[in-house]
Amino acid sequence: MGVKVGRIDMGNAGPADKVTIVTYPDEFSKGEIAELARAAGYTVQALVTQRRVVKSEYGVGVGKAQELQQIVEDNGSKTIIVDEALTSSQANRLATLTHAEVVDRERLILNIFARRAKTTEAKLQVELAELRYEMPRAKDAVRYSVQGERAGFSGMGETAMDVKFRALKRRMAAIKEKLEDSRTTRQLHTAERRKLGMPFVSLAGYTSSGKTTLFNRLASESKEESPNLFTTLTTTTRVVSLSDARMKVLLSDTVGFISRLPTYLVESFKSTLDELRYADLVLLMVDASESADSARVKLGSCLDVLGQLDVDPRRVLLVLNKMDLLTEARNEKIEEDPHFRDFQSVRISAVRGDGLHKLRSRILELVRAPRPQP
Ligand code: GDP
Ligand code: MG
Repeated sequence: MGVKVGRIDMGNAGPADKVTIVTYPDEFSKGEIAELARAAGYTVQALVTQRRVVKSEYGVGVGKAQELQQIVEDNGSKTIIVDEALTSSQANRLATLTHAEVVDRERLILNIFARRAKTTEAKLQVELAELRYEMPRAKDAVRYSVQGERAGFSGMGETAMDVKFRALKRRMAAIKEKLEDSRTTRQLHTAERRKLGMPFVSLAGYTSSGKTTLFNRLASESKEESPNLFTTLTTTTRVVSLSDARMKVLLSDTVGFISRLPTYLVESFKSTLDELRYADLVLLMVDASESADSARVKLGSCLDVLGQLDVDPRRVLLVLNKMDLLTEARNEKIEEDPHFRDFQSVRISAVRGDGLHKLRSRILELVRAPRPQP
């Protein structure tokens, strides 16, 4: 039948896999999708923009599809990421035309979540989301192959679809059951971390707010040398020493909040952020160079999710980043904003290194303070 709706090949992108991206022309979209692509393990070769990523034959316009064909041939990209949800027939047509693998926005996000999912619960949530991703595409794939191969006769296709659907539904029900069970089990990596006896500090915030930049800076400046310890930690968790070398914390980078997240992905997103529940301190990064409105909206949704994860606001330190891009006038306003006023905050520039001394001492104060009682 040529209908391929098997399980998603997860985390298959290697660090050297070249990718060409199609996204919207605004800075936020470009920055976000590039960051997501890197989080999935790709190297971005080219970023092509389109005002409207239209719902057409190829997902992108016909002209753009032809342009893409040339671009990937020239730059050697094996994959094209389209920053929208595509139907499987759109993805198939674009892949056939360009001879590249086509990954849409939702598949990309799923792959990142799959890479990040560490607990049983998070893995199950991701698998459930994958099935939800596949359902409409399975239908579409059958229709596509039926039209292509046996026009006017759809009996076979529908039977295949029924079988496929029943299998998908059965799998979903099984996962939901397992999820119920795993909610009550202990988180293994948390217990492991507790054994190390170091305070745990976690970075949160939208993609492109500067989390990884800060993480790398703090990790490299602390020159922590404990090779044995490193091997037991993930690449996104590092031992960082604060001020004097005696005080060490575990610092963890996260994927970050993602805009335009479809509802079926929200639960698996939350479960991959599960470690925030156990953090002694959450550094909530805010890109302070954005418009106040945009920063406010993002901060609001971050706080919502943190609330749902039962993170105590007293364990949150707002890190107002990219202060280097701010004018003096705007500098004042940020602190006056009622949304920011309720929180302890510190201003930094992660790229320039401004405010890092202050940040380290605030972290030190806060992790030394007794953990607030609920
Ligand atoms: P993440 O998605 O939160 O991990 O964000 P990144 O650390 O990847 O940073 C996103 C973009 O913002 C990168 O291009 C960084 O170079 C830039 N960036 C990060 N911190 C600063 C800063 O303090 N000032 C400026 N101007 N750019 C920054
Ligand atoms: Mg990052």
